[in-house]
Amino acid sequence: TRYVYRFGGSVDDGGNQDKNLLGGKGANLDGMAGIGLPVPPGFTISTEMCTRYYDEGEQFPDSLRGEVADGIAHIEGLTGKRFGDAADPLLVSVRSGARVSMPGMMDTVLNLGLNDQTVVGLATISGDDRFAWDSYRRFIQMYADVVLELDHARFEEALEIAKEDNGYDLDTELTAKDWQKLVEEYKALVQELWGKPFPQDVHDQLWGAVGAVFGSWQSERAKVYRRLNDIPGGWGTAVNVQAMVFGNMGETSATGVAFTRDPSTGENAYYGEFLINAQGEDVVAGIRTPQYLTRAARERAGAKPLSMEEAMPEVYAQLAAVFETLEKHYRDMQDIEFTVERGKLWMLQTRSGKRTAKAALKIAIDMANEGLITREEAILRVDPAALDQLLHPTLDPDAPRDVLTKGLPASPGAASGIAVFDSDTAEKRAHAGDAVILVRVETSPEDIHGMHAAKGILTARGGMTSHAAVVARGMGRPCVSGAGTLSIKAAEGIARIGSREIREGDLITIDGTTGEVMAGEVPTIQPELAGDFGTLMVWADEVRRLKVRTNAETPLDCRTAREFGAEGIGLCRTEHMFFDAARITAVRQMILASDEAGRRAALDKLLPEQRADFTEIFEVMAGLPCTIRLLDPPLHEFLPHEEAEFAEVASAAGLDVETLRRRAAELHEFNPMLGHRGCRLGVTYPEIYEMQARAIFEAACDVAEKSGAAPVPEVMIPLVGTRRELELMKIVVDKAAQAVFAEKGRTIEYLVGTMIELPRAALRAGEIAEVGEFFSFGTNDLTQTTLGVSRDDAGRFLTTYVEKGIYARDPFVSIDVEGVGELIQIAAERGRATRPDIKLGICGEHGGDPASIAFCEATGLDYVSASPYRVPIARLAAAQAAL
Ligand code: ADP
Ligand code: MG
Ligand code: MG
Repeated sequence: TRYVYRFGGSVDDGGNQDKNLLGGKGANLDGMAGIGLPVPPGFTISTEMCTRYYDEGEQFPDSLRGEVADGIAHIEGLTGKRFGDAADPLLVSVRSGARVSMPGMMDTVLNLGLNDQTVVGLATISGDDRFAWDSYRRFIQMYADVVLELDHARFEEALEIAKEDNGYDLDTELTAKDWQKLVEEYKALVQELWGKPFPQDVHDQLWGAVGAVFGSWQSERAKVYRRLNDIPGGWGTAVNVQAMVFGNMGETSATGVAFTRDPSTGENAYYGEFLINAQGEDVVAGIRTPQYLTRAARERAGAKPLSMEEAMPEVYAQLAAVFETLEKHYRDMQDIEFTVERGKLWMLQTRSGKRTAKAALKIAIDMANEGLITREEAILRVDPAALDQLLHPTLDPDAPRDVLTKGLPASPGAASGIAVFDSDTAEKRAHAGDAVILVRVETSPEDIHGMHAAKGILTARGGMTSHAAVVARGMGRPCVSGAGTLSIKAAEGIARIGSREIREGDLITIDGTTGEVMAGEVPTIQPELAGDFGTLMVWADEVRRLKVRTNAETPLDCRTAREFGAEGIGLCRTEHMFFDAARITAVRQMILASDEAGRRAALDKLLPEQRADFTEIFEVMAGLPCTIRLLDPPLHEFLPHEEAEFAEVASAAGLDVETLRRRAAELHEFNPMLGHRGCRLGVTYPEIYEMQARAIFEAACDVAEKSGAAPVPEVMIPLVGTRRELELMKIVVDKAAQAVFAEKGRTIEYLVGTMIELPRAALRAGEIAEVGEFFSFGTNDLTQTTLGVSRDDAGRFLTTYVEKGIYARDPFVSIDVEGVGELIQIAAERGRATRPDIKLGICGEHGGDPASIAFCEATGLDYVSASPYRVPIARLAAAQAAL
């Protein structure tokens, strides 16, 4: 097999721009070279080599040497320079590149091929001593850090001292002589820290760097990143070796990063930053403040230093043409790295750009409207889970704001939380339930876990393309970066802004849309659901088959859900209505009554209250199906738990404390989840379900009377395991319905059905469907009862189970397709065999999970039901599942 694939010139080694083989970076370098864009020539060592390297105990096979030599010869041929040549040396970069981009996670070495001889040649041939020595010191510094893993602080220190000694502020003030002197110091540092001289043989340098890039695949931060992003460890990384081009060759040279559209808002305008006379990472590292790409962006920001459009109009025009070519070729917004060497443009990277949910939405819609992609593609381009970011409230523009400082609006959305100055503490406090804002001078890949745990991120340094900004946008966290007036003393747990201060634990608010940082918590308002969001929802609704309902039990939730497009209620739990302070006494009287007459007396007091609940809900849901689950939890949940409450509760219920205590003891259960609950309550105390059914039908008739549009109640009996249970309960419900219809003089359509949440019910679905007119899969309990895992106690081991691959994902988040899924399939099949038009839906938390929704589509269910805020997510996921 071939392991080395060349790019540039007219070679074709058959890599076919394959990301799995060449990694994302290599595939797209190959792609850009293939469409004639100016790409420095190079070659890619495939990901297959990385896998083999690890399989064989971190050794390279002998055959690789020859292939790499051919690759170097290819670059030499196209550049006319020779690797290691003292007169006109070829320099290369050695770059990592996994299948999917892992920004900043892995290592890159630039300027490789410099040594004490070649640096002189480079100086002569370029006519620029300063540039040559600057490149050499950069190379030693990077090589020492990435390949030799020496303490990089020592190298930075040496540079700082050199600047201080000369009274310089900026790196750009150092002269050729200064750099040359620093190179000597760096070499001495390498000797001191590594115990050997800095490698002078360029081939040793190359193999060292290739090994380091493969090695970075197994670095701790890369592993954490893979875990957070579900990237398999077996994929490996490719290595790209590429001719260097130099953005640090003076005032006609530059380096930059750009997006073909705004990754924050999605606006169709070029967006980016660049630096004159700089190299590679300088822009992202926040060493100097980068300049804007376009004049419009510079003017909008009121910044002084000229934009690239103004400073280098010709190269800028070429770059803009490249942006257009790339968008057409890849049919997506691109994130680009480029370098200008003495007025010549070079493309160093392109990939589909990470973007906020808002931008993803706008770009998908715009591109469909521009004819670049189809509507179906637009639907598939938006991650349903990311919609979450758009549905949540933003800061109330009318609320007072105590603005402490302003930075760059690096990732939109607003967040309030306590200020925390390091990532470990952020993670700890978040675990303890605090909302946290991570406040850092700047972030690095070591901060990933803290950024993940935080609700928002604030940095003192860095631009719009800084690490913090890029990662925050990817994670959907609001971020304000480069708040320059913020002076952070992390060790003292304090940040100062002029005379104001933020102490660790202080509540602050950041607005990633404006860049403002505020003291305290600022109230929020509901998001705008029209515009692009509305358009995407319309497109999604046109293609989806699954209906989407909501889990809601208050009129407010019902209204929210309907605004989000819910087509009915999939689960209205009734127990919460019983906890209401005004009613709990009657509920307790009912529970504590010693006979049916006593229970009925208490239930009579509850009837008008329940009817009022349903009336309000039905008014919002007029004309739509509403699944209402009759009482489900064990009765003792309604009794007091604290000794202190007993006396008060007893007197309110007209009982002595002793009786109450005895009755509470009687109701105690060892395993309440499997105890006296669900339809077992209805079987033993039918009058409870009778009252609830009556309340439902009276309310439905009243609403029909008033508005002319009746809801369609679907009365759902919980925790059924046998046909007979459901049959008994259906008799109770039907009797109540007949009685109410006779009293009200009108009939309304209704259904009686059951929740399938016990394996027995799933297996016996054929006969249960003889009675039940619908099934709703209660996948929370069905998961508990199928796996024999209690959701409330699973926290202790479930993470380990997922880590060890026992379950691919948390089965309470994403349906266990193999186990629980098979039961659902069996129940659906057997239910339909008995009753072909049986309605099937899902009402567990899974109803809002895109992967579970795809399963529901494949199983042919009629609807999914999700909490109000997840309704749009479910609509989009249902559309994607149908495509
Ligand atoms: P990352 O994946 O972390 O972005 P890259 O491999 O893209 O790492 O390299 C980091 C930086 O080095 C980039 O800014 C890139 O532009 C620059 N760079 C990489 N290769 C070259 C090259 N051949 N010539 C000039 N600059 C380069
Ligand atoms: Mg890059
Ligand atoms: Mg249940």
